Amino acid sequence: MACTTNAFALSLSSKPNTNFSPDFNPNLNKPLNVTLHRSGTGDLNLARLALSRPSQPSRRICANATQVMDQSVGERSSAAPTIVEVDLGNRSYPIYIGSRLLDQHELLQKHVHGKKVLVVTNTTVAPLYLDKVVDALTRGNPNVSVENVILPDGEKYKNMETLMKVFDKAIESRLDRRCTFVALGGGVIGDMCGFAAAAFLRGVNFIQIPTTVMAQVDSSVGGKTGINHPLGKNLIGAFYQPQCVLVDTDTLDTLPDRELASGLAEVIKYGLIRDAEFFEWQEKNMEKLMARDRDALVYAIKRSCENKAEVVSLDEKESGLRATLNLGHTFGHAIETGFGYGEWLHGEAVAAGTVMAVDMSYRLGWIDSSIVKRVNDILLRAKLPTAPPETMTVEMFKSVMAVDKKVADGLLRLILLKGPLGNCVFTGEYDREALDDTLAAFCKS
Ligand code: NAD
Repeated sequence: MACTTNAFALSLSSKPNTNFSPDFNPNLNKPLNVTLHRSGTGDLNLARLALSRPSQPSRRICANATQVMDQSVGERSSAAPTIVEVDLGNRSYPIYIGSRLLDQHELLQKHVHGKKVLVVTNTTVAPLYLDKVVDALTRGNPNVSVENVILPDGEKYKNMETLMKVFDKAIESRLDRRCTFVALGGGVIGDMCGFAAAAFLRGVNFIQIPTTVMAQVDSSVGGKTGINHPLGKNLIGAFYQPQCVLVDTDTLDTLPDRELASGLAEVIKYGLIRDAEFFEWQEKNMEKLMARDRDALVYAIKRSCENKAEVVSLDEKESGLRATLNLGHTFGHAIETGFGYGEWLHGEAVAAGTVMAVDMSYRLGWIDSSIVKRVNDILLRAKLPTAPPETMTVEMFKSVMAVDKKVADGLLRLILLKGPLGNCVFTGEYDREALDDTLAAFCKS
């Protein structure tokens, strides 16, 4: 990104605080003053990100959860949802989290604009939840007509050809600017439907109904939408926020175990980059999460959404802080692209990538060995990989990483851990040898 000034501010309170702290610590639950500084080369270095708490915050910039529902294990009453707000001024929206939310028709209906809705889903999710969603959209609401488009299932279909099927359906159905797109499915559907909504007629309303852990804790929140290119993941897309996100935790009942574990990779990420307390909670509760304990899952989804919403509220377009959500993703995307889309699940690739980022952080002397061990241990307990596929070579990593979105002026910037648990940096200022050593340590050739 071009930068014409040496320093700029992100989502500041009315009195920007110029206090400078040499280490970036996103482990915060209160409003922050954030000032990003650029190095002489124009590279953003969050090691130099100054964060300080304003004594009197002038506007709400944090996500907050309200109305905690009764989440007794096994109990499936339609209680009031937990609500996490994503605060983006006039584009703010709620994330509803809870059991049987698809039975609470008014939740969804109040966010539908216009009389026509297009539900975008896939061949796996449609038989499970499409009827329920159509019912939720139309019950007591006869003026709304609902079309659907059922896409092939899988990361390898997250491309331009599949996206065109959404536009085909929207145009054939004569949808106009007052329509609403609804994404029903995991992160692949959410990313594609969101991008289609951003581009169709230059932007129509859309709603996210995420049905995987990955989508419920991460991809449905924050407005990153897009598709893959054969040369790299998510290289084509738009920032486009939904009207609301509706997380009905009952949809997880049908999710395969491997997909559940994949989503937990992103939950673990929040703990590592900014929420040490949450990481410690995960260390105590990983087996409960894996066993789908309802209380544990709802708590993990809520806490993850709070973390994501707070970061997005501070840095919607990824000027810096938001990039930290990509811990492990640069290595992980290289695995997904190099190994073939869909061969490894996104969270599996992120897990192996996280181990590599942590290894590199340790080689740089930025973290101590106990963190390396704790990361390995928790990923193993979540039944996630802790190394890339054996067929990945150093060259494969390097060629894919060269087109990563975080490359700026030819310099690859990475998210690395630095300091005590819960601290990270987004930086291009690291010893290149450490990266080479990490790649060599994890690749056979
Ligand atoms: P996915 O969308 O492929 O879903 C995983 C599998 O589970 C699919 O086969 C899907 O059909 C199936 N499925 C979904 N819901 C189900 C349910 N309730 N019951 C049974 N099966 C169900 O994968 P994902 O892990 O949800 O998402 C990965 C994608 O998300 C990647 O493309 C990644 O790039 C993207 N992502 C985006 C963001 C973002 O900010 N936009 C963040 C993280 C990940």
